[in-house]
Amino acid sequence: MSAPAPTPVPVQPVTGLPAGTAGYPWWNDTVFYEVFVRSFYDSDGDGIGDLNGLIAKLDYLNDEDPNTTTDLGVTGLWLMPIHPAASYHGYDVIDYYQVNPEYGTLDDFKHLLTEAHQRGMRVLMDWVPNHTSDQHPWFVTAQDPNSDYHDWYVWSPRVSGSGWYAGASGDYYYAHFDLHMPDLNYANPAVTEQMRDVARYWLEDVGVDGFRIDAIRYLIEDGGFTEHTDPTHAWLRAFRPFYKTLNPEALMLGEIWDSSGLVADYTAGGDELDLGFNFDLARAILWAAAYRRDTLFRETLTKDLAVFPPGQFATFITNHDQDRVMSVLGDDVARAKVAAALLFASPGVPFVYYGEEIGLLGKKPDPSIRAPMPWTADANGGFTVASSPWIGLNPDYPARNVAAQTDDPNSLLSFYRDLIRLRNEHAALRVGDTFVPETGNLSVTAVLRVTQDEVVLAVVNLGKDPVSDYGLALAESPLQGDYQAAPLLGPGPFARLAAEASGAFAKYQPLPTLPPYGTFILQLQPTR
Ligand code: CA
Repeated sequence: MSAPAPTPVPVQPVTGLPAGTAGYPWWNDTVFYEVFVRSFYDSDGDGIGDLNGLIAKLDYLNDEDPNTTTDLGVTGLWLMPIHPAASYHGYDVIDYYQVNPEYGTLDDFKHLLTEAHQRGMRVLMDWVPNHTSDQHPWFVTAQDPNSDYHDWYVWSPRVSGSGWYAGASGDYYYAHFDLHMPDLNYANPAVTEQMRDVARYWLEDVGVDGFRIDAIRYLIEDGGFTEHTDPTHAWLRAFRPFYKTLNPEALMLGEIWDSSGLVADYTAGGDELDLGFNFDLARAILWAAAYRRDTLFRETLTKDLAVFPPGQFATFITNHDQDRVMSVLGDDVARAKVAAALLFASPGVPFVYYGEEIGLLGKKPDPSIRAPMPWTADANGGFTVASSPWIGLNPDYPARNVAAQTDDPNSLLSFYRDLIRLRNEHAALRVGDTFVPETGNLSVTAVLRVTQDEVVLAVVNLGKDPVSDYGLALAESPLQGDYQAAPLLGPGPFARLAAEASGAFAKYQPLPTLPPYGTFILQLQPTR
């Protein structure tokens, strides 16, 4: 028995949304926002966030008018799983074809797609192929060894290592993450065929713009090996042409929670995933802000430039599986701004985790890093009119909420808006070649982004003290001659930069003194 060859389907125009800048894919022009629907906004008063609630708050994210500065300006959404599931988080799916009734209906989801696309926003959905819920009808049926579904899961008569749990028949099933999340058996072609149909349904029938693929490194076990196996890579190489036939523009973004070299194994060849999340750079950004030293950030970014195809990785600071940025940074707005500046000055495709932009706090256990979004100082932060939301808001919501920050030009929310607007307006920040100048001071970091038409330089003082003994230097760069520096973020005036014919420059100080935690983004314009 072998998997049927995928049936070619006609390529349809997808969203009418713009293609990417300068030959890059559209995702390099996108700033994504990760949403936990359950915690974003409750439209019907049952205490649970829902799709209509997200639609109601789209103007907060992107109001469709590029000239306004009162929206966040993000241009893409990643929705954590929206299917019926056994757990609140949704990563144990019970039905891959349905929308969780707590979140709404399929029509609500289609309405969300329409409203998002109208604003120029693409929508990714979370796809969880590694495992199902133990309540999924496939697994319930699979308990019978004579059922057709038995071989949809991984069984053994004996326990051989961790991750094995007793099924009803006495055999053991494999479940990498949790006994309630049994792994699907991709050695069975029927499983691949079924999950291809799931992909076909959402990409072709419903029209999502891509998948964030959960836990892909664990997809197929091979002997004693459970991650990064050759069969997993082979499966992706066979899956990609099918997926891209459904929609050649659709993004394949994988969660490979590992070092950059192992992430690039899935993307650099161009025949598996389009992007993987860059966990190394995320940690480096966080550490730069936490420890006020640029060493790890510089090393990591430099290494990533060599490992990944240009711009082809997804950047973030923390996500729904990690302590929130603001908690790691000790509730220090200045340091949260530093982290944000490094995120948006870096190459790649940036993702913001909902609430990050207002400095929402949250430390594990998991539900605490997925708490409801506080919109106002009203009861339950205006998240719901119900007296008790599905989980309590952070107790500081009367002070820390969207309304409290929206009109304050110095708030973290305003800073995120400024950075995202700059990213949207300046191709150099999105797709420019990246150079990491020496700064001559451990607490200063700089990123130079260059296209044919534009040069943008970000300079950040990571430290709590003013810095005067610094100077930016590159031995090689595409710059040549004299540049005047126009401010994009942070007040000037800035000194001119002089580059040699070779592109080298040294001892460049845009300002004589960088104030504590100061972020400056400047556009270098040739004076000749
Ligand atoms: Ca609701």
